[in-house]
Amino acid sequence: MSVPEKVNYLIIGAGIHGLSTAWHLAKLLKSKGKGDGSQILVIEKNAIASGASGVACGVVRNNYYQPAMRELMAHSVEIWDSDPETFHYHPVGYMQISPKIMDEDISSIYEQQKSIGYDSVFIHGEKESFDYMKNIFNDWQAQGITSVLHEKKGGYANNTSSIYALANKAENEGVRILTGTKVLGFKFGNGSDAVTAVETDKGEIKCDQVIVGVGPWLRDIWNMLELPKKISIKDDKGKMHDNFPMWKYWFLTEGVLTVDPNMQITNDGKMPPVIHIDTDAPLYSDEDKSLITDKLWGIYYKPDFHFNGIQGGSSPYKVDTPADNVNVDPYGPDSSEYVVGSDFAHMWSSALAFCQKRFEGKSHLYKKGSTGGLGCFTPDNFPIFDKFRENVHIIADSNHGYKMIGVGKLVASEILGENSKLLEPFRFSRFKEGKLHPISNSPFPWS
Ligand SMILES: Cc1cc2nc3c(=O)[nH]c(=O)nc-3n(C[C@H](O)[C@H](O)[C@H](O)COP(=O)(O)OP(=O)(O)OC[C@H]3O[C@@H](n4cnc5c(N)ncnc54)[C@H](O)[C@@H]3O)c2cc1C
Repeated sequence: MSVPEKVNYLIIGAGIHGLSTAWHLAKLLKSKGKGDGSQILVIEKNAIASGASGVACGVVRNNYYQPAMRELMAHSVEIWDSDPETFHYHPVGYMQISPKIMDEDISSIYEQQKSIGYDSVFIHGEKESFDYMKNIFNDWQAQGITSVLHEKKGGYANNTSSIYALANKAENEGVRILTGTKVLGFKFGNGSDAVTAVETDKGEIKCDQVIVGVGPWLRDIWNMLELPKKISIKDDKGKMHDNFPMWKYWFLTEGVLTVDPNMQITNDGKMPPVIHIDTDAPLYSDEDKSLITDKLWGIYYKPDFHFNGIQGGSSPYKVDTPADNVNVDPYGPDSSEYVVGSDFAHMWSSALAFCQKRFEGKSHLYKKGSTGGLGCFTPDNFPIFDKFRENVHIIADSNHGYKMIGVGKLVASEILGENSKLLEPFRFSRFKEGKLHPISNSPFPWS
Protein backbone atom coordinates (compact mmCIF):
# COMPACT_ATOMS: atom_id res chain seq x y z
CA MET A 1 0.00 0.00 0.00
CA SER A 2 1.39 3.45 -0.88
CA VAL A 3 1.50 6.21 1.70
CA PRO A 4 -1.55 8.48 1.30
CA GLU A 5 -1.05 12.23 1.15
CA LYS A 6 -3.81 12.96 3.66
CA VAL A 7 -6.11 11.08 6.06
CA ASN A 8 -8.69 12.22 8.59
CA TYR A 9 -7.70 9.87 11.40
CA LEU A 10 -4.15 8.63 11.72
CA ILE A 11 -3.54 5.96 14.35
CA ILE A 12 0.02 5.08 15.37
CA GLY A 13 0.54 1.47 16.52
CA ALA A 14 -1.12 -1.84 15.60
CA GLY A 15 -1.47 -3.25 19.11
CA ILE A 16 -4.60 -3.73 21.21
CA HIS A 17 -5.33 -0.01 21.61
CA GLY A 18 -4.55 1.24 18.10
CA LEU A 19 -6.60 -1.53 16.48
CA SER A 20 -9.49 -1.43 18.95
CA THR A 21 -9.74 2.34 18.42
CA ALA A 22 -9.60 1.89 14.63
CA TRP A 23 -12.36 -0.74 14.65
CA HIS A 24 -14.68 1.16 16.98
CA LEU A 25 -14.07 4.53 15.35
CA ALA A 26 -14.92 3.07 11.94
CA LYS A 27 -18.19 1.63 13.29
CA LEU A 28 -19.06 4.84 15.10
CA LEU A 29 -18.39 7.05 12.08
CA LYS A 30 -20.75 4.85 10.08
CA SER A 31 -23.50 4.67 12.70
CA LYS A 32 -23.43 8.44 13.17
CA GLY A 33 -23.51 9.03 9.41
CA LYS A 34 -20.18 10.86 9.67
CA GLY A 35 -18.13 8.64 7.37
CA ASP A 36 -16.54 5.21 7.58
CA GLY A 37 -13.33 3.23 8.05
CA SER A 38 -11.77 4.48 4.81
CA GLN A 39 -11.01 7.73 6.67
CA ILE A 40 -8.76 5.85 9.12
CA LEU A 41 -5.13 4.81 8.60
CA VAL A 42 -3.16 2.73 11.12
CA ILE A 43 0.62 3.10 10.84
CA GLU A 44 2.79 0.37 12.31
CA LYS A 45 6.60 0.44 12.23
CA ASN A 46 6.92 -3.30 12.31
CA ALA A 47 4.07 -5.82 12.07
CA ILE A 48 0.62 -6.28 13.61
CA ALA A 49 1.01 -7.48 17.25
CA SER A 50 4.78 -6.96 17.26
CA GLY A 51 4.69 -4.91 20.49
CA ALA A 52 3.62 -5.63 24.06
CA SER A 53 0.20 -6.93 22.97
CA GLY A 54 1.93 -9.75 21.09
CA VAL A 55 3.95 -10.95 24.09
CA ALA A 56 1.35 -10.38 26.82
CA CYS A 57 0.28 -13.21 29.06
CA GLY A 58 -3.23 -12.26 27.99
CA VAL A 59 -4.85 -12.22 31.44
CA VAL A 60 -8.19 -10.42 31.71
CA ARG A 61 -9.27 -9.58 35.26
CA ASN A 62 -11.19 -7.05 37.28
CA ASN A 63 -9.19 -7.38 40.50
CA TYR A 64 -8.07 -3.80 41.01
CA TYR A 65 -8.01 -1.86 44.26
CA GLN A 66 -8.77 1.39 42.41
CA PRO A 67 -12.53 1.89 41.77
CA ALA A 68 -11.89 3.68 38.44
CA MET A 69 -9.75 0.79 37.17
CA ARG A 70 -12.41 -1.76 38.15
CA GLU A 71 -15.19 0.07 36.33
CA LEU A 72 -13.04 0.40 33.25
CA MET A 73 -12.11 -3.30 33.32
CA ALA A 74 -15.75 -4.33 33.70
CA HIS A 75 -16.47 -2.36 30.50
CA SER A 76 -13.60 -4.13 28.68
CA VAL A 77 -14.72 -7.58 29.86
CA GLU A 78 -18.08 -6.90 28.17
CA ILE A 79 -16.23 -6.47 24.87
CA TRP A 80 -14.19 -9.65 25.36
CA ASP A 81 -17.46 -11.44 26.16
CA SER A 82 -19.14 -10.04 23.02
CA ASP A 83 -17.17 -12.30 20.66
CA PRO A 84 -15.02 -14.78 22.62
CA GLU A 85 -14.45 -17.14 19.70
CA THR A 86 -13.08 -14.53 17.30
CA PHE A 87 -10.98 -12.93 20.06
CA HIS A 88 -9.61 -16.35 21.14
CA TYR A 89 -10.81 -15.44 24.62
CA HIS A 90 -11.24 -18.08 27.36
CA PRO A 91 -13.69 -16.84 30.01
CA VAL A 92 -12.46 -19.25 32.70
CA GLY A 93 -12.48 -16.69 35.51
CA TYR A 94 -9.69 -15.37 37.70
CA MET A 95 -8.63 -15.93 41.32
CA GLN A 96 -6.77 -13.53 43.60
CA ILE A 97 -5.40 -15.59 46.50
CA SER A 98 -3.94 -13.44 49.27
CA PRO A 99 -2.22 -13.28 52.68
CA LYS A 100 -3.50 -11.43 55.74
CA ILE A 101 -1.80 -8.12 54.89
CA MET A 102 -3.99 -7.86 51.77
CA ASP A 103 -7.31 -9.03 53.30
CA GLU A 104 -8.78 -5.57 53.80
CA ASP A 105 -7.89 -4.43 50.26
CA ILE A 106 -9.33 -7.54 48.67
CA SER A 107 -12.48 -7.49 50.76
CA SER A 108 -13.12 -3.90 49.63
CA ILE A 109 -12.57 -4.96 46.01
CA TYR A 110 -15.19 -7.67 46.49
CA GLU A 111 -17.69 -5.24 48.05
CA GLN A 112 -17.25 -2.83 45.16
CA GLN A 113 -17.47 -5.61 42.57
CA LYS A 114 -20.84 -6.46 44.11
CA SER A 115 -21.95 -2.86 43.79
CA ILE A 116 -21.12 -2.74 40.07
CA GLY A 117 -22.66 -6.18 39.47
CA TYR A 118 -19.36 -7.92 38.66
CA ASP A 119 -19.82 -11.59 39.55
CA SER A 120 -17.34 -12.80 42.18
CA VAL A 121 -17.11 -14.87 45.39
CA PHE A 122 -15.07 -13.87 48.43
CA ILE A 123 -13.75 -16.45 50.89
CA HIS A 124 -12.27 -15.26 54.15
CA GLY A 125 -10.25 -17.23 56.72
CA GLU A 126 -7.26 -19.55 56.46
CA LYS A 127 -9.13 -22.85 56.69
CA GLU A 128 -12.02 -21.63 54.53
CA SER A 129 -9.59 -20.44 51.84
CA PHE A 130 -7.62 -23.68 51.90
CA ASP A 131 -10.81 -25.79 51.66
CA TYR A 132 -12.13 -23.64 48.80
CA MET A 133 -8.91 -24.13 46.84
CA LYS A 134 -8.77 -27.88 47.66
CA ASN A 135 -12.25 -28.20 46.27
CA ILE A 136 -10.95 -26.90 42.92
CA PHE A 137 -7.48 -28.54 42.91
CA ASN A 138 -7.11 -31.62 45.10
CA ASP A 139 -3.33 -31.08 45.29
CA TRP A 140 -3.56 -27.47 46.54
CA GLN A 141 -0.98 -26.92 49.29
CA ALA A 142 -0.11 -23.21 49.47
CA GLN A 143 0.28 -21.92 53.01
CA GLY A 144 -0.21 -18.46 54.50
CA ILE A 145 -3.40 -17.72 52.59
CA THR A 146 -6.28 -16.00 54.37
CA SER A 147 -8.56 -14.93 51.52
CA VAL A 148 -9.66 -15.90 48.02
CA LEU A 149 -11.42 -13.60 45.59
CA HIS A 150 -12.87 -15.72 42.80
CA GLU A 151 -13.94 -13.62 39.83
CA LYS A 152 -16.39 -15.65 37.76
CA LYS A 153 -15.82 -13.44 34.74
CA GLY A 154 -12.52 -12.67 33.02
CA GLY A 155 -9.86 -15.23 32.16
CA TYR A 156 -7.33 -14.92 29.39
CA ALA A 157 -7.00 -14.62 25.61
CA ASN A 158 -4.34 -15.78 23.15
CA ASN A 159 -2.19 -12.71 22.62
CA THR A 160 -1.38 -12.51 18.89
CA SER A 161 -4.60 -14.25 17.76
CA SER A 162 -6.82 -11.66 19.43
CA ILE A 163 -4.82 -8.79 17.93
CA TYR A 164 -5.10 -10.27 14.41
CA ALA A 165 -8.84 -10.65 15.06
CA LEU A 166 -9.09 -6.95 15.90
CA ALA A 167 -7.09 -6.09 12.77
CA ASN A 168 -9.56 -8.15 10.69
CA LYS A 169 -12.53 -6.44 12.28
CA ALA A 170 -11.00 -3.02 11.55
CA GLU A 171 -10.13 -3.92 7.94
CA ASN A 172 -13.64 -5.28 7.39
CA GLU A 173 -14.86 -1.79 8.28
CA GLY A 174 -12.59 -0.30 5.60
CA VAL A 175 -9.64 0.73 7.83
CA ARG A 176 -6.21 0.62 6.13
CA ILE A 177 -3.24 -0.78 8.09
CA LEU A 178 0.16 0.28 6.83
CA THR A 179 2.87 -1.93 8.36
CA GLY A 180 6.65 -1.45 8.05
CA THR A 181 6.21 2.33 8.29
CA LYS A 182 7.74 4.26 11.16
CA VAL A 183 6.62 7.61 12.55
CA LEU A 184 9.69 9.84 12.89
CA GLY A 185 8.14 13.18 13.86
CA PHE A 186 5.24 15.62 13.66
CA LYS A 187 4.49 18.91 11.95
CA PHE A 188 2.66 21.49 14.04
CA GLY A 189 0.32 24.22 12.80
CA ASN A 190 1.37 27.77 12.19
CA GLY A 191 0.26 29.64 15.30
CA SER A 192 -1.59 26.60 16.63
CA ASP A 193 -0.66 23.71 18.86
CA ALA A 194 -2.25 21.08 16.66
CA VAL A 195 -0.47 18.40 14.64
CA THR A 196 -1.01 19.00 10.92
CA ALA A 197 1.06 16.13 9.55
CA VAL A 198 2.97 13.05 10.61
CA GLU A 199 6.45 12.43 9.21
CA THR A 200 7.21 8.79 8.46
CA ASP A 201 10.17 6.98 6.90
CA LYS A 202 7.99 6.63 3.76
CA GLY A 203 6.97 10.29 3.54
CA GLU A 204 4.71 12.86 5.13
CA ILE A 205 1.00 12.27 5.80
CA LYS A 206 -1.30 15.21 6.53
CA CYS A 207 -4.04 14.47 9.07
CA ASP A 208 -6.87 16.00 11.09
CA GLN A 209 -6.61 13.80 14.19
CA VAL A 210 -3.82 11.62 15.61
CA ILE A 211 -4.35 8.68 17.95
CA VAL A 212 -1.28 7.27 19.71
CA GLY A 213 -1.26 3.62 20.89
CA VAL A 214 2.43 2.74 20.91
CA GLY A 215 2.77 0.91 24.26
CA PRO A 216 6.42 0.77 25.42
CA TRP A 217 7.51 3.23 22.71
CA LEU A 218 5.40 6.06 24.10
CA ARG A 219 8.48 7.83 25.47
CA ASP A 220 9.62 8.44 21.86
CA ILE A 221 6.32 9.75 20.53
CA TRP A 222 5.91 11.88 23.70
CA ASN A 223 9.29 13.47 23.03
CA MET A 224 8.42 14.03 19.34
CA LEU A 225 5.25 15.81 20.49
CA GLU A 226 7.46 17.99 22.71
CA LEU A 227 5.51 17.07 25.85
CA PRO A 228 7.19 17.51 29.29
CA LYS A 229 9.88 15.05 30.37
CA LYS A 230 9.42 16.13 34.01
CA ILE A 231 6.15 16.98 35.74
CA SER A 232 4.82 18.27 39.07
CA ILE A 233 2.78 15.94 41.26
CA LYS A 234 0.61 16.82 44.26
CA ASP A 235 0.62 14.03 46.83
CA ASP A 236 -2.30 12.97 49.07
CA LYS A 237 -1.19 15.48 51.75
CA GLY A 238 -1.32 18.35 49.27
CA LYS A 239 2.48 18.65 48.97
CA MET A 240 3.82 19.44 45.50
CA HIS A 241 6.75 17.40 44.11
CA ASP A 242 8.44 19.05 41.13
CA ASN A 243 10.73 17.60 38.49
CA PHE A 244 9.22 14.13 38.70
CA PRO A 245 10.33 12.00 35.68
CA MET A 246 7.35 11.50 33.37
CA TRP A 247 8.19 7.93 32.32
CA LYS A 248 9.91 4.94 33.82
CA TYR A 249 10.31 1.38 32.63
CA TRP A 250 9.61 -1.88 34.39
CA PHE A 251 10.52 -5.29 33.10
CA LEU A 252 7.77 -7.93 33.12
CA THR A 253 9.00 -11.40 34.01
CA GLU A 254 7.10 -14.28 32.42
CA GLY A 255 7.81 -17.84 31.33
CA VAL A 256 6.41 -21.26 30.46
CA LEU A 257 6.60 -24.70 32.05
CA THR A 258 6.48 -27.16 29.15
CA VAL A 259 3.94 -29.65 30.43
CA ASP A 260 0.64 -30.72 28.91
CA PRO A 261 -1.77 -27.83 29.71
CA ASN A 262 -4.38 -30.50 30.52
CA MET A 263 -2.44 -31.41 33.65
CA GLN A 264 -3.90 -28.29 35.30
CA ILE A 265 -7.56 -29.28 34.93
CA THR A 266 -9.77 -28.90 37.99
CA ASN A 267 -11.17 -31.72 40.15
CA ASP A 268 -14.29 -31.70 37.97
CA GLY A 269 -12.29 -31.95 34.73
CA LYS A 270 -12.65 -28.33 33.59
CA MET A 271 -10.09 -25.76 32.47
CA PRO A 272 -9.29 -23.77 35.64
CA PRO A 273 -9.44 -20.05 36.38
CA VAL A 274 -6.27 -18.00 36.09
CA ILE A 275 -4.47 -18.22 39.44
CA HIS A 276 -2.81 -15.20 41.01
CA ILE A 277 -1.32 -15.80 44.43
CA ASP A 278 0.45 -13.34 46.72
CA THR A 279 1.82 -14.54 50.03
CA ASP A 280 4.31 -13.71 52.77
CA ALA A 281 5.00 -17.38 53.52
CA PRO A 282 8.70 -18.18 52.92
CA LEU A 283 9.40 -19.62 49.49
CA TYR A 284 11.89 -22.48 49.29
CA SER A 285 13.56 -23.92 46.21
CA ASP A 286 11.86 -26.95 44.74
CA GLU A 287 15.30 -28.08 43.58
CA ASP A 288 17.51 -27.84 46.69
CA LYS A 289 15.17 -26.55 49.44
CA SER A 290 17.22 -23.34 49.90
CA LEU A 291 15.32 -20.19 50.91
CA ILE A 292 14.38 -18.09 47.85
CA THR A 293 12.57 -15.32 49.73
CA ASP A 294 10.89 -14.58 53.03
CA LYS A 295 9.41 -11.27 51.78
CA LEU A 296 5.95 -10.80 50.25
CA TRP A 297 5.99 -12.43 46.80
CA GLY A 298 3.46 -13.24 44.09
CA ILE A 299 3.00 -15.25 40.91
CA TYR A 300 0.25 -15.91 38.37
CA TYR A 301 -0.27 -18.88 36.08
CA LYS A 302 -2.69 -20.61 33.74
CA PRO A 303 -2.66 -23.61 31.42
CA ASP A 304 -2.33 -22.23 27.90
CA PHE A 305 -2.40 -24.22 24.63
CA HIS A 306 -1.17 -21.14 22.75
CA PHE A 307 2.07 -21.21 24.80
CA ASN A 308 1.94 -25.02 24.99
CA GLY A 309 2.30 -25.36 28.74
CA ILE A 310 1.65 -23.58 32.01
CA GLN A 311 2.32 -19.92 31.36
CA GLY A 312 2.63 -17.07 33.84
CA GLY A 313 4.88 -14.66 35.64
CA SER A 314 5.91 -13.00 38.87
CA SER A 315 6.43 -9.41 40.08
CA PRO A 316 8.17 -7.17 37.57
CA TYR A 317 11.31 -5.23 38.42
CA LYS A 318 11.98 -1.55 37.97
CA VAL A 319 14.57 -0.59 35.37
CA ASP A 320 16.90 1.92 37.07
CA THR A 321 18.13 3.52 33.84
CA PRO A 322 16.41 6.89 33.13
CA ALA A 323 13.62 6.37 30.59
CA ASP A 324 15.37 8.27 27.78
CA ASN A 325 18.33 5.86 27.92
CA VAL A 326 16.41 2.58 27.99
CA ASN A 327 16.86 0.43 24.86
CA VAL A 328 13.29 -0.55 24.04
CA ASP A 329 14.39 -2.03 20.72
CA PRO A 330 14.89 -4.81 19.92
CA TYR A 331 11.73 -5.61 21.87
CA GLY A 332 10.56 -8.62 23.88
CA PRO A 333 12.22 -11.95 23.12
CA ASP A 334 14.55 -10.22 20.61
CA SER A 335 16.12 -8.09 23.33
CA SER A 336 19.51 -9.18 24.64
CA GLU A 337 19.22 -6.88 27.66
CA TYR A 338 15.66 -7.29 28.95
CA VAL A 339 14.73 -10.97 29.10
CA VAL A 340 14.19 -13.26 32.08
CA GLY A 341 17.11 -15.22 33.50
CA SER A 342 17.57 -18.41 35.49
CA ASP A 343 16.63 -16.65 38.77
CA PHE A 344 13.10 -16.12 37.50
CA ALA A 345 12.84 -19.72 36.24
CA HIS A 346 13.96 -21.03 39.63
CA MET A 347 11.64 -18.79 41.64
CA TRP A 348 8.55 -19.24 39.45
CA SER A 349 8.87 -23.04 39.10
CA SER A 350 9.40 -23.34 42.87
CA ALA A 351 6.39 -21.11 43.48
CA LEU A 352 4.24 -23.37 41.28
CA ALA A 353 5.34 -26.33 43.40
CA PHE A 354 4.57 -24.31 46.57
CA CYS A 355 0.98 -23.96 45.32
CA GLN A 356 0.25 -27.37 43.86
CA LYS A 357 1.88 -30.76 44.38
CA ARG A 358 1.53 -31.61 40.69
CA PHE A 359 4.34 -29.13 39.95
CA GLU A 360 6.85 -30.58 42.40
CA GLY A 361 10.04 -31.81 40.69
CA LYS A 362 9.05 -30.20 37.39
CA SER A 363 11.40 -27.19 37.32
CA HIS A 364 13.66 -28.89 34.71
CA LEU A 365 10.69 -28.54 32.31
CA TYR A 366 10.90 -24.75 32.39
CA LYS A 367 11.17 -23.61 28.75
CA LYS A 368 14.60 -22.15 28.05
CA GLY A 369 14.72 -19.07 25.86
CA SER A 370 13.94 -15.37 25.94
CA THR A 371 10.64 -14.24 27.45
CA GLY A 372 9.19 -11.17 29.14
CA GLY A 373 9.11 -7.59 27.96
CA LEU A 374 9.38 -3.93 28.93
CA GLY A 375 6.46 -1.76 29.95
CA CYS A 376 6.41 2.05 30.01
CA PHE A 377 4.89 3.30 33.28
CA THR A 378 3.45 6.67 34.34
CA PRO A 379 4.51 8.30 37.66
CA ASP A 380 1.63 6.64 39.60
CA ASN A 381 1.61 3.43 37.50
CA PHE A 382 -1.91 4.06 36.22
CA PRO A 383 -2.97 4.93 32.67
CA ILE A 384 -3.26 8.30 31.02
CA PHE A 385 -6.04 8.64 28.46
CA ASP A 386 -6.16 12.22 27.31
CA LYS A 387 -6.01 14.72 24.49
CA PHE A 388 -2.82 16.70 23.91
CA ARG A 389 -1.91 19.47 21.44
CA GLU A 390 -5.59 19.98 20.40
CA ASN A 391 -5.87 16.91 18.17
CA VAL A 392 -3.70 14.10 19.60
CA HIS A 393 -5.39 11.40 21.69
CA ILE A 394 -2.84 9.43 23.68
CA ILE A 395 -3.57 5.96 25.06
CA ALA A 396 -0.84 5.36 27.65
CA ASP A 397 -2.01 2.30 29.54
CA SER A 398 0.98 2.07 31.92
CA ASN A 399 1.20 -1.58 31.04
CA HIS A 400 -2.28 -2.54 32.27
CA GLY A 401 -3.59 -2.73 28.84
CA TYR A 402 -3.96 -6.03 26.99
CA LYS A 403 -7.14 -6.66 28.95
CA MET A 404 -8.39 -3.13 28.16
CA ILE A 405 -9.86 -3.96 24.77
CA GLY A 406 -12.71 -1.51 25.47
CA VAL A 407 -10.59 1.62 25.89
CA GLY A 408 -10.46 2.04 22.09
CA LYS A 409 -14.28 2.20 22.05
CA LEU A 410 -14.33 4.96 24.66
CA VAL A 411 -11.53 6.87 22.93
CA ALA A 412 -13.39 6.61 19.61
CA SER A 413 -16.44 8.25 21.26
CA GLU A 414 -14.26 11.02 22.68
CA ILE A 415 -12.74 11.69 19.25
CA LEU A 416 -16.26 12.22 17.97
CA GLY A 417 -17.01 14.64 20.80
CA GLU A 418 -18.59 12.50 23.53
CA ASN A 419 -16.60 12.61 26.78
CA SER A 420 -16.36 9.33 28.63
CA LYS A 421 -17.04 9.16 32.37
CA LEU A 422 -14.94 5.98 32.57
CA LEU A 423 -11.86 7.71 31.12
CA GLU A 424 -12.23 10.89 33.21
CA PRO A 425 -10.16 9.63 36.23
CA PHE A 426 -7.22 9.00 33.90
CA ARG A 427 -6.55 12.54 32.69
CA PHE A 428 -3.03 13.95 32.70
CA SER A 429 -4.13 16.85 34.96
CA ARG A 430 -4.62 14.42 37.89
CA PHE A 431 -0.91 14.67 38.73
CA LYS A 432 -0.83 18.41 39.33
CA GLU A 433 -4.31 18.38 40.88
CA GLY A 434 -3.38 15.57 43.28
CA LYS A 435 -6.29 13.39 42.08
CA LEU A 436 -4.22 10.21 42.30
CA HIS A 437 -5.53 6.67 42.50
CA PRO A 438 -5.38 4.79 45.83
CA ILE A 439 -2.45 2.41 46.35
CA SER A 440 -2.91 -1.20 47.47
CA ASN A 441 -0.70 -3.52 49.53
CA SER A 442 -0.04 -5.82 46.58
CA PRO A 443 3.60 -6.54 45.59
CA PHE A 444 2.67 -5.70 41.98
CA PRO A 445 2.74 -2.10 40.65
CA TRP A 446 -0.49 -2.67 38.76
CA SER A 447 -2.97 -3.89 41.40
C1 LIG B 1 5.50 -9.69 29.24
C2 LIG B 1 4.23 -8.89 29.31
C3 LIG B 1 3.07 -9.50 29.77
C4 LIG B 1 1.88 -8.77 29.87
N1 LIG B 1 0.76 -9.42 30.28
C5 LIG B 1 -0.42 -8.74 30.33
C6 LIG B 1 -1.62 -9.41 30.72
O1 LIG B 1 -1.62 -10.60 31.01
N2 LIG B 1 -2.77 -8.69 30.76
C7 LIG B 1 -2.79 -7.35 30.45
O2 LIG B 1 -3.85 -6.75 30.54
N3 LIG B 1 -1.68 -6.70 30.06
C8 LIG B 1 -0.50 -7.36 29.99
N4 LIG B 1 0.64 -6.72 29.60
C9 LIG B 1 0.54 -5.29 29.24
C10 LIG B 1 0.04 -5.15 27.82
O3 LIG B 1 0.70 -6.06 26.98
C11 LIG B 1 0.23 -3.74 27.30
O4 LIG B 1 -0.23 -2.82 28.24
C12 LIG B 1 -0.57 -3.53 25.99
O5 LIG B 1 -0.38 -4.62 25.13
C13 LIG B 1 -0.13 -2.25 25.29
O6 LIG B 1 -0.86 -2.15 24.09
P1 LIG B 1 -0.58 -1.00 23.05
O7 LIG B 1 -1.53 -1.20 21.95
O8 LIG B 1 -0.55 0.30 23.76
O9 LIG B 1 0.94 -1.23 22.62
P2 LIG B 1 1.68 -2.39 21.76
O10 LIG B 1 0.96 -3.66 21.77
O11 LIG B 1 3.09 -2.38 22.23
O12 LIG B 1 1.60 -1.84 20.29
C14 LIG B 1 2.29 -0.66 19.95
C15 LIG B 1 2.71 -0.76 18.51
O13 LIG B 1 3.20 0.50 18.11
C16 LIG B 1 4.26 0.31 17.19
N5 LIG B 1 5.08 1.52 17.18
C17 LIG B 1 5.87 1.98 18.17
N6 LIG B 1 6.50 3.11 17.79
C18 LIG B 1 6.09 3.38 16.54
C19 LIG B 1 6.42 4.39 15.59
N7 LIG B 1 7.29 5.37 15.87
N8 LIG B 1 5.84 4.37 14.36
C20 LIG B 1 4.94 3.36 14.05
N9 LIG B 1 4.62 2.36 14.91
C21 LIG B 1 5.18 2.37 16.14
C22 LIG B 1 4.98 -0.91 17.75
O14 LIG B 1 5.74 -1.57 16.76
C23 LIG B 1 3.83 -1.77 18.28
O15 LIG B 1 3.42 -2.76 17.37
C24 LIG B 1 1.85 -7.41 29.51
C25 LIG B 1 3.02 -6.80 29.04
C26 LIG B 1 4.19 -7.53 28.93
C27 LIG B 1 5.42 -6.84 28.40
